[in-house]
Amino acid sequence: MIASESDPSNDRMTNADLHCHTLASDGTLTPEKLMERAIANNLEILAITDHDTIDGYLSVKDMAAPFKLVSGVEFSTQWRGMGIHIVGLDFQAEEITSAVQHQIDVRVQRSEKIASRLEKKFKRPIYEGVKQLAGNGVITRPHFAEYLVQEGLYSSVAEAFKKFLGTGKPGDVKSGWPEIAQAVDWITKAGGFAVLAHPHKYKLTNRKLGMLLDEFKAVGGQGFELSVTGINPNVRHYYTELCQKYDFIGSRASDFHGPGHHWCELGKVPPIPAGVTPIWQAFK
Ligand code: AMP
Ligand code: MN
Ligand code: MN
Ligand code: MN
Repeated sequence: MIASESDPSNDRMTNADLHCHTLASDGTLTPEKLMERAIANNLEILAITDHDTIDGYLSVKDMAAPFKLVSGVEFSTQWRGMGIHIVGLDFQAEEITSAVQHQIDVRVQRSEKIASRLEKKFKRPIYEGVKQLAGNGVITRPHFAEYLVQEGLYSSVAEAFKKFLGTGKPGDVKSGWPEIAQAVDWITKAGGFAVLAHPHKYKLTNRKLGMLLDEFKAVGGQGFELSVTGINPNVRHYYTELCQKYDFIGSRASDFHGPGHHWCELGKVPPIPAGVTPIWQAFK
């Protein structure tokens, strides 16, 4: 599925953003405010991909908008002891409900475990405050971080991640997350496309990334986020080659969580490189 530059259907310059978050997970904007921002930033296609929930998407899916809104979710999975995120796009929302409910249940059990570890460490109640912060959204590690900072237990979100919540620390609980194959299966059975989220964020060696991609491809993964915020041109070139090697379609993904991070803005991401098919060409 490689598009040539002379192909008139190659709309790789389309202003699409297929990865962002709202208050339904760890984003800071309501879904409505996110939609307004998408209009202001001249988006042509948007997917809201909250962590393990589609509530944000469902709440705005019938809103009138001058762009195409496709269904989205970012599933948490584990692979060889690492947390790997799989984005699902353009699925039938009714057909993914039980998968999402499963993930929400895992998230609740995981939050209880993280909270009890923190309560033991700091010898004080934590969970109620974190639940209040998350409101109606799912509880995520950034909610824990924000609460710990608010209570003066760590001096910054960065410190809370570095000392307790980050990779390999006691608050990085991955045990309940499904295998990659399960998440891909949920997405594809619901008629959607399974995309490997932010491959540059896992800090994998090329060899290990190759092993991850072999497995992702083998279980039916189709897409790869190669147009992402702040990626080095050499890495982007390498990812272009990987998309061609594995015949992955390319996705464009800011992973926007809210205003205030000047380096990350909704829809402000490089275009899909020549030689890679944009995922939206396959959308319904
Ligand atoms: P969770 O899905 O509950 O495991 O939370 C993961 C989210 O935490 C990611 O999607 C990021 O938004 C955020 N995150 C991960 N690592 C860091 C970090 N070091 N500092 C701030 N936020 C982070
Ligand atoms: Mn997040
Ligand atoms: Mn992610
Ligand atoms: Mn994300």
